[in-house]
Amino acid sequence: MGRTRVFLAALAALSLALGVAGSAQAGVGLPTVVAHVPTQEKVVFITIDDGWNHDPEAARILLEKRVPVSLFLLPGATSYDTGYFTRLVEEGRASVENHTVSHPDLTTLDAVGKDAEVCGAGERIEADFGRAPKLLRPPYGAVDDEVRLAAKACGVKALVTWTHDFTTWGETPPTPRLQAGDIVLLHFTPTLAADLERALGAARAAGLRPAALMPHLKAAGLA
Ligand SMILES: [Zn+2]
Repeated sequence: MGRTRVFLAALAALSLALGVAGSAQAGVGLPTVVAHVPTQEKVVFITIDDGWNHDPEAARILLEKRVPVSLFLLPGATSYDTGYFTRLVEEGRASVENHTVSHPDLTTLDAVGKDAEVCGAGERIEADFGRAPKLLRPPYGAVDDEVRLAAKACGVKALVTWTHDFTTWGETPPTPRLQAGDIVLLHFTPTLAADLERALGAARAAGLRPAALMPHLKAAGLA
């Protein structure tokens, strides 16, 4: 099955290269790349990446406030303490999505490499969490049409980047004024609890509530 998929991905990549993908317009039929969701509703989308640090305080906030959240997790970062994340899924409002196996810049890999990273991560997440991920966050937000094509072959419905990164990388970034439909990026770092509170505060200040991403992507025709 893996081999068939690699073959199909390679064939599709070839079609794309030859310009016979079925449309004269580049990217048609490929999953969309979303950095912001057009919506009339007063919502923002909280996303948290990687999964290396498993802070109980961050989990407590997510569970107590019942924050809808998309987690783009690396299998290697969850495997030594899968329970931290299953609890967020089963007792909270988290869904686990795809962030590849080993966090490469996907645009630098060939078709087989892309397949191993994206389909491979999808299979491991499905095995660990009981649901095949439908969204992919490409590491570093690095995307091109071949990455979108590989993602499609792995069942990905949309590639999700972000509008604002709230992560404290050394120093805390200035807090932006959030707009409806913005996608907030956080990471499972030791500062997640504080970064999450800052993001929730910014949402509150803008009159926005965190919402689940997938239903709004579907409503906007983006997934
Ligand atoms: Zn990442």
